[in-house]
Amino acid sequence: MRYAFFQGNIVPFNDAKISIMNHAFNYGTGVFEGIRAYWNETQNQLFLLKAREHFERLQRSAWSLKMNLKYSVPEMIELTLQLLKKNDYKQDVYIRPLAYKSADKIGLGLVGIPDDFCIFVAPFGVYLDISKGIKVCVSSWCRIGASSAPLGSKITGAYFNSSLAKSEALEKGFDEAILLSPDGSVAEGSGENLFIIKHGKLITPPLTEIILPGITRETIINLAKNELGMVVEERFVRRDELCQADELFFCGTGAEITPIIQIDETIINEGQLGTVTKKLQAVYFQAAHGDNPKYADWVIPVF
Ligand code: PMP
Repeated sequence: MRYAFFQGNIVPFNDAKISIMNHAFNYGTGVFEGIRAYWNETQNQLFLLKAREHFERLQRSAWSLKMNLKYSVPEMIELTLQLLKKNDYKQDVYIRPLAYKSADKIGLGLVGIPDDFCIFVAPFGVYLDISKGIKVCVSSWCRIGASSAPLGSKITGAYFNSSLAKSEALEKGFDEAILLSPDGSVAEGSGENLFIIKHGKLITPPLTEIILPGITRETIINLAKNELGMVVEERFVRRDELCQADELFFCGTGAEITPIIQIDETIINEGQLGTVTKKLQAVYFQAAHGDNPKYADWVIPVF
């Protein structure tokens, strides 16, 4: 049987239900995280990846919707480990903690409306094609700007924007979308951050751009500097730089490191995976699976 953490207890998954009158369901007043745990067959172990970073971001997201999470970061990590043990998955999984306005109440607002916290876990393999690369279009939808939402927070309601962009991409025969900011600079993918490689430099939109401050983004910047000795530029990226890039990739907890081999009609790197992208994939996956002692602090063994 599968289990979830709901209303303060680990319960059978099918008992974790909210009402159709729930505030977060009606108004999108929830915040969430997406965390991975990788199964390592050789070590017979499940490794929870970057848990502290994700729960710290969840806490910041919760504050932005005026919620007071009743669990501390170490407590939420402990609850996640307990839930993973109880579910006993021996495969790659995705962990989805949510903090949400839990009242069954009609009426907008945030203050004085009770909130709650839950976690569910689901088996999860590859999200995008990391071995062949993907085709991406520049979306006709802009990313929601800083004057419309607290940037840096993962707010459930705001993901209508990402869903519109992703859906448009799929309808046009692409795998993913890149959203521009309202002023026309490159922001990010529907659920991932973007990197371009040009003249041996790694370039990515800065945290002052309207992007989610990705945990994988930060990780890639550090790996590129420390493992590959690369120069990393965090700076505004123009749309035309996408098609001129030597290599391009998305990164995210779900997306991992996904090579991009086409932008709209333009084929990148003759449709082949780039050498820098491949090197980053190798070192990222090794560390994320608990196989690199140098990065042992990325992961927590579950069993
Ligand atoms: N941007 C958006 C909009 C996202 O939803 C995500 C996934 N959480 C990311 C970027 C990547 O963030 P992370 O590396 O922390 O998963």
